[in-house]
Amino acid sequence: MDCIFCKIAAGEIPSKKVYEDDMILAFHDISPASPVHILVIPKEHIPCANNINSNNSNVVAHIYEVIPKIAKEQGIGEKGYRIVNNCGEDGGQTVGHLHFHVLGGRNLKWPPG
Ligand code: AMP
Ligand code: ZN
Repeated sequence: MDCIFCKIAAGEIPSKKVYEDDMILAFHDISPASPVHILVIPKEHIPCANNINSNNSNVVAHIYEVIPKIAKEQGIGEKGYRIVNNCGEDGGQTVGHLHFHVLGGRNLKWPPG
């Protein structure tokens, strides 16, 4: 399958890893939108939020358990951060492998527009 995040998870494309375990991987976004911009992905290919179900939602729960640890390590745990999951064309999704943006290091505008 021609999926860039599957290739990153398999180590076929390099990434600046900040966390890895058997289920998930976190790495720096190549085009950061904020001073801290980490992507957290399941190693399993899940296209987007529409494909989360009772068989795979444990990986999403795991991602949400790990994000606060990553945020703390990145120095944004206390001041705060935003977790973003884009789904589909109108959601702004450009890579069709479920991923969670962790954004911080500056005051983020809301609503995002
Ligand atoms: P989205 O628009 O929500 O699908 O987010 C995809 C994100 O992946 C964007 O923020 C891109 O900058 C990022 N991205 C694309 N290719 C790479 C890569 N090879 N390494 C790290 N981040 C990437
Ligand atoms: Zn994939």
